Amino acid sequence: MYACNNGAGHAVSRENCSRRDFLPRSGTFMNLAHALLNIFFPIYCVGCGKEGLHCCAVCLAATARFAHTTQPWNDVYAACPFEDHSPLAELIHRFKYDGAMEVAALLAGLYAENPLSRLGGAPVLVPVPLHTRRVNMRGFNQSAILAEHFAARWNMEVQEVLVRTRYTRPQVELSGEGREKNLRGAFAMKKSVAPLSPETLYVLVDDVCTTGSTLRECIKVLTAAGARNVCGLVIARTV
Ligand SMILES: [Zn+2]
Repeated sequence: MYACNNGAGHAVSRENCSRRDFLPRSGTFMNLAHALLNIFFPIYCVGCGKEGLHCCAVCLAATARFAHTTQPWNDVYAACPFEDHSPLAELIHRFKYDGAMEVAALLAGLYAENPLSRLGGAPVLVPVPLHTRRVNMRGFNQSAILAEHFAARWNMEVQEVLVRTRYTRPQVELSGEGREKNLRGAFAMKKSVAPLSPETLYVLVDDVCTTGSTLRECIKVLTAAGARNVCGLVIARTV
């Protein structure tokens, strides 16, 4: 555990303060800032604790994966099962909340193959949007970053056609029914977007799927906008 200064002169634990508190949100100095941070606050493998990287090759290879990612579960493709407090959960946390952008490539790489390749056509990746307020707080939308990695690996197009119209409580604070209610009407199509093609497969990208309520809400909006083929693609899902 590392400590940092919360601005009021008190050293606070990682629960309240993270590496990203020191980082510029974007721009030229981000890599330099990361390099300096690694000197003062070294990173450790989420699995074995080895210093210098977020996940060593051995622990990455040992990450539990679904044997057949080509078989979607409820129309959602997932590379790995998700468990709280697992090394994978820590890896996702570092990406999403600590701003460790380099972890995105590791996460996207958990797919040994492109599960969409057998479907033919040219699927379009649609990141699940964050509300502008949360993007400003976090500095990025993790789903959009993951979508860019998938697009680069699998030669696909990304279309950010959705927006989050309502600022909602984090889903992680809620259970089943509360999650559905929390997200109802929270998404819409961007105003400038043309009607969606009924022939195209739109693939919603998110980091984790738990109850599926986020993806379901997004599917409703895409379907209302003309899409006929929609599925989800996440790094991990709860089992
Ligand atoms: Zn390791």
